[in-house]
Amino acid sequence: MSDLTDCVITPRVATEGFDPVGVGVHRASTILFADAAAYASRGERGDKGYSYGLYGTPTTRTLEEKLSRLEQAARTFLVPSGQAANALAVMPFLKSGQHILLADTVYPPMRDFALGDLARLGVSVDFFDPTDLGDLQRKMRSDTRIVWCESPGSTTMEVMDIPAAVEIAHRSGALLGVDNTWATPLNLKPLTLGADLVTEALTKYVAGHSDVLMGSISVRDPEFAPPIKAMISHMGIGASPDDASLVLRGLETLGVRLRHSEAVARRFAARLVEHPMVDQVLFPALPGAPGHEFFKRDFLGASGVFTLTFSESIAPHVWSALDALRLFAIGASWGGTRSLAAPMPVRASRSATQWTGPDITLRLSIGLEEETELWEDLERFLGALEEYSAGSDAAQ
Ligand SMILES: *Cc1c(COP(=O)(O)O)cnc(C)c1O
Repeated sequence: MSDLTDCVITPRVATEGFDPVGVGVHRASTILFADAAAYASRGERGDKGYSYGLYGTPTTRTLEEKLSRLEQAARTFLVPSGQAANALAVMPFLKSGQHILLADTVYPPMRDFALGDLARLGVSVDFFDPTDLGDLQRKMRSDTRIVWCESPGSTTMEVMDIPAAVEIAHRSGALLGVDNTWATPLNLKPLTLGADLVTEALTKYVAGHSDVLMGSISVRDPEFAPPIKAMISHMGIGASPDDASLVLRGLETLGVRLRHSEAVARRFAARLVEHPMVDQVLFPALPGAPGHEFFKRDFLGASGVFTLTFSESIAPHVWSALDALRLFAIGASWGGTRSLAAPMPVRASRSATQWTGPDITLRLSIGLEEETELWEDLERFLGALEEYSAGSDAAQ
């Protein structure tokens, strides 16, 4: 062969005996077929076969398989972000004239997707109070197709009685889905509580290093898989094997990272409850938190994300006091190695419930820095908050 041809044709070296711990990054659009007959019959290769890079590679399939085990799912699909997972979990099951009910506390972009895109396509959209399943029951209709939950709720952290919500949804023939990003499959397995669909923003704890975006959709029953698979491939959505490889690496240490963040978060939350600058600590692991009884019954642990609220006189100073932080970085997303603080408004993303407190809360994500130094950093913030508040009292 000429050099030009040898540059293009890749020799296959032996792979027998090469048995690494991790899975390789298999990049491909084209998959080669041994002969014309194999190409002609590629459609018969089934779910486990390979026909085109978009429909899966050994790297992405390995991650899907790992997640299916953790979620106890019949099947898992990877998509390029957590929000893509939420949208693509509900979209295949809805058509014009049907109805979706969402918990009032869902991830705000999911709320926007429902009110914007689903409504435009003729789906009616309603929200229910996740702490009052009577409200869910009253809002169920004969054409309700999906009940979409997130537990604990975004920012305000209310834990839902998922098994009871499942019963209400199933009685009317609706499917129930849960965005499980806060808990991860190590702390809650919604499919074992009867949920039909579960999504994870793998971007957060599972990938764990704030450098990759990915989402997963897992289904309880194999019959829910084909509509999702069809929609994902019709829309041309696939997950990058390079990104899947990063998520696979992150997943190996998820257990120890999560347990560490949980332990530190529990200690910090207990101290912050007592702190005069803090009004409430919204953290499902604290006794008295909304849905704490369901947290104790259903969850295997907590994660390291919780929210602080402040009284009317202190809240206006939160923005300025944040600049006192030296270790906590200011940023959205969470679940990485770096501790984060993010000021979060609530009111604009509620309609079935009312947020009556000051419309600024502070979401903290506990990372892997040394605990004492992290606490000193929080004390710096709280000290600054006290000074700013005292300053404005004096000025009045
Ligand atoms: C971050 C987040 C998402 C979205 O994940 P992306 O990968 O950033 O799109 C979805 N749900 C919850 C609860 C989240 O916190």
